[in-house]
Amino acid sequence: MVKTVCGFDVAIVGAGFAGLYMLHRLRGLGIPARIYEAGSGVGGTWFWNRYPGARCDVQSLEYSYSFSDELEQEWHWTERYAAQPEILRYANHVAERFDLTRDIQFETRVTGAIFDDTTDRWTIRTDRGDLIPATFCVMATGCLSTAKVPDFKGLEIFRGCRYHTGHWPHKGVDFTGQRVGVIGTGSSAIQSIPIIAGQASHLFVFQRTPNFSVPAHNGPLSPAVTRDWEMNRNEYRHRARTSRTGILHEWGTESALDVPPEERDRAYELRWQRGGLGFGAAFSDIGVNKEANDTAAEFVRAKICGIVRDRAVAEMLLPKDYPLGTKRLCVDTGYYATFNRENVTLVDVRSTPIEEITPAGVRTSTAEYAVDSLVFATGFDAMTGTLCSIDIRGRAGAALKQKWSQGPRSYLGIMVAGFPNLFTITGPGSPSVLSNMIVSIEQHVDWIADCLAFLRQHRLTAIEPTVDAENAWVAHVNEVADSTLYPRANSWYMGANIPGKPRVFMPYVGGLGVYRQKCDEVAANGYEGFTLSAPAPEADRSVDRP
Ligand code: NAP
Repeated sequence: MVKTVCGFDVAIVGAGFAGLYMLHRLRGLGIPARIYEAGSGVGGTWFWNRYPGARCDVQSLEYSYSFSDELEQEWHWTERYAAQPEILRYANHVAERFDLTRDIQFETRVTGAIFDDTTDRWTIRTDRGDLIPATFCVMATGCLSTAKVPDFKGLEIFRGCRYHTGHWPHKGVDFTGQRVGVIGTGSSAIQSIPIIAGQASHLFVFQRTPNFSVPAHNGPLSPAVTRDWEMNRNEYRHRARTSRTGILHEWGTESALDVPPEERDRAYELRWQRGGLGFGAAFSDIGVNKEANDTAAEFVRAKICGIVRDRAVAEMLLPKDYPLGTKRLCVDTGYYATFNRENVTLVDVRSTPIEEITPAGVRTSTAEYAVDSLVFATGFDAMTGTLCSIDIRGRAGAALKQKWSQGPRSYLGIMVAGFPNLFTITGPGSPSVLSNMIVSIEQHVDWIADCLAFLRQHRLTAIEPTVDAENAWVAHVNEVADSTLYPRANSWYMGANIPGKPRVFMPYVGGLGVYRQKCDEVAANGYEGFTLSAPAPEADRSVDRP
């Protein structure tokens, strides 16, 4: 039965870190809001991705909210890189501490959102039959939330158990004694493979493209590190907000080509020993100059050869056909060494592609591999997949999916021309996945909250980017991407992992600090590039009504 729910001015889709903070900010402004969340709990990515070894690749102290001093003081991370259960506990703690759950409707998937030109309002539709009118709609749907299982022939006839890393069973999976196949070698696979290998009687890793991975050197957070963070937190937070990625890397200022090879290797070695994503920041031009990039790539390839004993296996693990960092650099614990185990077999499905899934396992062009369980670590329809799976209709019934059929178009990655009052937190065209997501989320949420406060103050009820501003931003996003090495990889950043998806570099690579400044300037200039409108006299629906 269709039921109509009234009384909320902002509908928020998703109760991950973006949705939770959005709700909190709107509460603070006295703007009624409600979250609709498909899962049965908060946490978004960290609610769904419970695969063995799931862990953040940004350090826990940095991968946390900065908006509340009290929250910062009372929460204590235990490890350098927090594991999924701890991050999920943190999300739950935030939801409880700020009493957010009472305004979240769980187990409710938003299926559509339609804008009514005559009333300037959205109606949000859910799979439970709700029809929710809202002046504003905020998509806090995450960038990596639509899990993708490739369309393998025979998938349905497999007799064993199938899992996707992004939809892991809540009760966990014990692979003890099983023959297991993992398809994919991206971040999720690289984290889970060492742990699954420790349980399985035999593990087959089906690799299409080898990845660059650097060690995490994870461990308990030392009291000295914690003390330093507490004493200098405000400065660290400020630096993160204005930095290129929202992560406190020490960025090398020299070209990798301007230093002698021994010195260069010492710099790489230092960062390899430190662990983490900072490896890719060793020199100023790793991301933009192929020759400079080659030096970093070669260093990692030498490391792989030093770790993996079997020459043929090591050779298969060497990434060779794209620059380091143009697919997301992975951060691992014992990944390459896992291939020294007797019970692990690496299968190259680039040269011998998977032809079908059989009742017993996986058949490639040259062999069949019998397995009890199959793990799809095959990634996501990133950045646009979730938004396009919701039937979002803007002015005159135009579909977002149609508008984005040649690639996403937005102004600042925050709003889309033709879709007034619809915000996309960390949407395509913003730094999002190239940054510390929580820093980017806070920036977007604060911008949106300030924007709504501005509209309320000026008794305006609609905001929409102009087509000109959107076109200029899309051109800028593409231009900056083209000045880097990123477009040279078949990555999910480019949509290349989804058959038929247009090849467009989706995130904004100009840097978080620069981007923040641009967003702030736009706001300071009275929301330059946006059209703001007041309600029609007969339908005063401004958001500051008591
Ligand atoms: P992913 O990086 O997209 O990796 C998917 C893997 O599946 C790739 O190796 C891909 O090969 C393979 N694959 C896809 N379709 C295939 C097919 N038909 N046949 C054979 N292989 C196939 O996905 P992910 O590992 O889930 O990671 C996605 C993103 O999530 C990461 O890049 C990262 O941003 C985020 N993440 C972060 C963390 C963390 O914080 N530590 C952990 C996990 C994920 P190709 O490369 O050839 O396409």
